[in-house]
Amino acid sequence: VETIDRIEAVPFSIPYGQALGTAIGTTHSADHVLIRVTDSDGAVGVAEAIPRAAIHGETVGTVMAVYDDVIRAQVLRRSIWDRERIHRDLHAGLVGNLAAKAAFDMALHDLIGRRLGIACHALLGGFSDSVAVTGHLTLGEIDALVARAVEQNETYGITAFKVKVGLHLDRDIALLTRLRATLPAASFRADANHAYAELEAMRFVEATAELGLSWFEEPTSGDSVLGRERIARVPTMHILADESTTTPATVVKEVLANRAHAVSIKVPRSGYTESDRIRIFCELTGTDVLIGTQGETGLGTLTSLAYAAAHESTSKHPTELSTFYDLKDDLLVEPLEVKDGRIFVPTHPGNGARLDEEKVAQYRTADPVG
Ligand code: MG
Repeated sequence: VETIDRIEAVPFSIPYGQALGTAIGTTHSADHVLIRVTDSDGAVGVAEAIPRAAIHGETVGTVMAVYDDVIRAQVLRRSIWDRERIHRDLHAGLVGNLAAKAAFDMALHDLIGRRLGIACHALLGGFSDSVAVTGHLTLGEIDALVARAVEQNETYGITAFKVKVGLHLDRDIALLTRLRATLPAASFRADANHAYAELEAMRFVEATAELGLSWFEEPTSGDSVLGRERIARVPTMHILADESTTTPATVVKEVLANRAHAVSIKVPRSGYTESDRIRIFCELTGTDVLIGTQGETGLGTLTSLAYAAAHESTSKHPTELSTFYDLKDDLLVEPLEVKDGRIFVPTHPGNGARLDEEKVAQYRTADPVG
């Protein structure tokens, strides 16, 4: 039987065309880790670990360290088909470290898909051949953001936008008002990343009531649960949970407490196996899901896309899978593209990623380990 023979972790850094600003902070480059899993027969699976220090406490260094200290010891020489047991042991033996564990889970699925000659998208459910994507409007000047929305609409046919808010209430309301007037048929969702105070969040919802926003993501501190409960009761408030629901257990807590009306599933932090637990719970409780982004490069985009397109619930709302456009370069041989506001699933086996090894060498920040 084929066993897991080798796991490589390659840290890399690709600069953004322009810095991405949110209420949490500003990011200038995608500092991620390429995970490559090889089995005893030479089949290879790849995925991208995306650490988020300010959200779940991981860095490139912690990802590298847990591969060295824990993950290799747990999984090397085990059968590639033993997915459920490997998953159980990894989660029992390593708390947290969501991105590190998720990347291994996705790389193993990629390896299995390539070995079987089946696309991960088909392996996982195969519901749709494409998904709609949102444009990203991060913090910045109103005129520039409105111009960017128009450009993304005209260039890529994008008609859904995710708008970062949270630091200046009046500016945020003015921005959404301008966007609505400029693109009357588009859909907009706002993401405050916990930055509003309770009253500010209520004022934001009142002031934007006529604009028909689809969701209000993480309006206030996720830890201030009573504040969240009070604003979740505002009839026009539709709270989308993201960083307050990073695991199946926290999804259950927030949804059952009526503090979240919809949940953002981010495949780079929950992998395929944990994302399935979140997705099925949400489907059974009548909670909408949508596929968010951790700022994936092309590789991570393909990995998330396979999951997004695989199910009815995850392909229903526009996904956030367009961040590869923000990067100056990518690791893929074939660049991804959005057409008519949609991104299409490749038919190649596994997640469909073909890596340009020269680019991997160019952007890697340290010698690979493993
Ligand atoms: Mg968010």
